[in-house]
Amino acid sequence: MFSKILIANRGEIAVRIIRACREMGISTVAVYSQADRDALHVSLADECYCIGPAHAKDSYLNMNAILSAAIVSGAQAIHPGYGLLSENAEFAKLCAEYGITFIGPSPEVLSKMGDKDEAKRTMRAASVPVIPGSGLVQEPQEAKKAAAEIGYPLLIKARAGGGGRGIRLIREESEFDKVFSQASEEAKNAFGDGGMYLEKYMTNVKHIEMQVLCDTFGHIVCLGERDCSMQRKNQKVMEESPSPAVTAIQRSELSRLCEKAMRSVGYTGAGTVEFLMDRDGFFYFMEMNTRLQVEHPVTEMVTGIDLVKWQIRIAAGMPLDFTSEDVSLRGHAIECRINAENPKENFRPGCGKISLMHIPGGPFVRFDTALYPDYVVPPFYDSMIGKLIVHARTREEAIRKMQAALCELVIEGVDHNGDFLLELLQEDAFQTGRYTTSFLEQRGRV
Ligand code: ADP
Ligand code: ADP
Ligand code: MG
Repeated sequence: MFSKILIANRGEIAVRIIRACREMGISTVAVYSQADRDALHVSLADECYCIGPAHAKDSYLNMNAILSAAIVSGAQAIHPGYGLLSENAEFAKLCAEYGITFIGPSPEVLSKMGDKDEAKRTMRAASVPVIPGSGLVQEPQEAKKAAAEIGYPLLIKARAGGGGRGIRLIREESEFDKVFSQASEEAKNAFGDGGMYLEKYMTNVKHIEMQVLCDTFGHIVCLGERDCSMQRKNQKVMEESPSPAVTAIQRSELSRLCEKAMRSVGYTGAGTVEFLMDRDGFFYFMEMNTRLQVEHPVTEMVTGIDLVKWQIRIAAGMPLDFTSEDVSLRGHAIECRINAENPKENFRPGCGKISLMHIPGGPFVRFDTALYPDYVVPPFYDSMIGKLIVHARTREEAIRKMQAALCELVIEGVDHNGDFLLELLQEDAFQTGRYTTSFLEQRGRV
């Protein structure tokens, strides 16, 4: 086992990983930007290194600075968290060159699955049904031809996209030229890669994703699905496990499909395979996230399995000591993403000093955050400031527990979406579990 791990991230996920390390008796090294001197992850870690100015590209994305901190501190492994460098094949490769273990899959798998177009081709080759669409499209004329074959409305996606960004809807052919050129320009600027592909725009669908853990001995375990259909602008707002729309039979079919897919790519570590599920209950592969997911806690709550600890054990060469059959989903878990944003002003992100804060408690209530009283939320990073997770015996009880917990939550000094989430929980579509990814848009709530 490692004796020291560097955490190449910030915010709640850095704190989450530091906690797992501490429980495992592993020393932790935090890295931070100049804007994050007073961040919680810095004070919780055993050692810390400033890696550059506020903007992520100068600090949390600065591979050389992070590797230098790892070498100087003597860390044997780097946990990248989510976002930032977590799916960066070049970074994983550099880690290997310096003899540092990247906690995640191999650089080869990262580059194969990180390119969303290549990931779809790989899955198709493994006989996994994928969302109908084109391969990479470059020239506008060629792209338009491919679009006509798929039919409108369709989505144009950046192969390097993520976090709900790099996706544009094209409703009809007359819009094509304009949206296509804008989208590829945006992708070039945002991801440094203008590669785009087209996809049929599916309506009345649910976002269902399967959590997997794969060790280096060929053991593959599926830990059940999460329903992430409550979305705003293609970004997840609330997540739950199990999905109220997935039957036990569908779950085991999906597990078998994912096991086959993971075997075919030689996957190792924790990962998530994302699907859209249509009204008839058919699943279509959308993408794979080769990292820990924001909403991993709901899976932890229903399975009782600590995903971060398993990521670390797998990276250290330990075998999984349970199988998919050993995993049972007990009760129901829901997560709400608490964002520093104002739903009344078009969800404008906010920042500022936390003047008052009360975190909900009680049995089976978990709040993952890096906030503390008097902390100043900086304007440079993600607007997610916390994740409220509850676990109960039934979905109904979990909803009531979440409502009670949200009512108790107090965060003053920055705007947040707590009341908006409370309203969502009251919605009929949520209560019945029949909501789809277009729910908020259809309700005019985006
Ligand atoms: P998850 O897929 O874990 O549910 P998100 O899609 O919200 O979570 O992404 C997690 C974080 O990673 C967000 O901060 C998001 O902005 C960031 N992220 C994910 N993929 C990319 C990417 N390709 N480029 C930039 N940021 C990304
Ligand atoms: P990201 O890398 O940003 O997570 P995804 O490809 O996973 O991008 O898509 C994000 C969200 O956009 C999905 O969860 C889904 O709600 C919506 N979406 C993506 N592809 C389609 C599609 N072909 N039809 C309908 N909705 C889609
Ligand atoms: Mg996705």
